[in-house]
Amino acid sequence: MTFDQILGHEQQKEILRRALANGKVAHAYLFSGQDGIGKRLMAMALARAIVCLEQRGCGNCRACRKIDHQNHPDLHILEPDGNSIKIEQIRVLQRELNLKPLEAPCKICIIEQADTMTVGAANALLKTLEEPRGDTLIILLSTQPNRLLETIRSRCQPLPFIRHPNSRIQAELEKQLGIDSAESHVLAALSEGSFKKAFGKDRDLYLEQRRQLLKTLTGLSSGSILPILDFAEQLAADKTVLPDILEIFQAFYRDVLMTLQGRSDEELVNLDLKEKILMVSGRENVSTILDKLEALIEIRRQLDRNVNRQLALEVLLLKLAA
Ligand SMILES: [Zn+2]
Repeated sequence: MTFDQILGHEQQKEILRRALANGKVAHAYLFSGQDGIGKRLMAMALARAIVCLEQRGCGNCRACRKIDHQNHPDLHILEPDGNSIKIEQIRVLQRELNLKPLEAPCKICIIEQADTMTVGAANALLKTLEEPRGDTLIILLSTQPNRLLETIRSRCQPLPFIRHPNSRIQAELEKQLGIDSAESHVLAALSEGSFKKAFGKDRDLYLEQRRQLLKTLTGLSSGSILPILDFAEQLAADKTVLPDILEIFQAFYRDVLMTLQGRSDEELVNLDLKEKILMVSGRENVSTILDKLEALIEIRRQLDRNVNRQLALEVLLLKLAA
């Protein structure tokens, strides 16, 4: 991945390009921004630009390829071990960083989900940040930079990544996937500003099955229990897609809420289901919709705790049908 291949984030690329050109790459960066926004891609592009034998992150030289395959001896990627990054992991890293780089001008360390460092790990890393060596570069990646120790943050050059506008994502989806604007609108609206999320969406589920799922959902009534039980059984059958289906339901009720509050169509996810949204908003009010959204949040919590899926879905659908 070169800077040019990364979509958007022009300002961030420019800052890094200039630092490279002027020999002023910081010894530590903090790349922050939501999941899937491109922090890691940018860190890898920076690593490539530094090690490249052509000095431009060409992608073809031996050094660039080693970065791409993550087997460059001077690249170290640290990820949480379980839920956190532990002090032992930082100690191992420090021993590595104490050695001279083997092939590149400096040793590069990318710390993923840096905010999951334990206090011990963070304090150990602080020592490294406090005594920067000329031949190491540390890049912290974080979705929640506020959870990092202030002392760590203050020793890193911050580089925040902001979400891409939906219009930009939509245009890219249409160009690369050849889908129409109604479809690209749905995927972009559900992507939270992330190309990774937009392109990662299961198109069959989010475009085709979504319409059928919402048709069944909005056709349920609390007076007839059998269709509710059937639908719950259908949804419970596939554990892996269930979170995505719940996301679809949530987006739909959020659309109804937006409509009840007189917001513009632009903000709707299910722009292609405007009629259905109007129909449902005609029989609901803000308070009943908020109850339904709350029920959707609650079932996600329950599913994380491994409750009986079928039962939880029956209760959910009863609330949504009410
Ligand atoms: Zn190269």
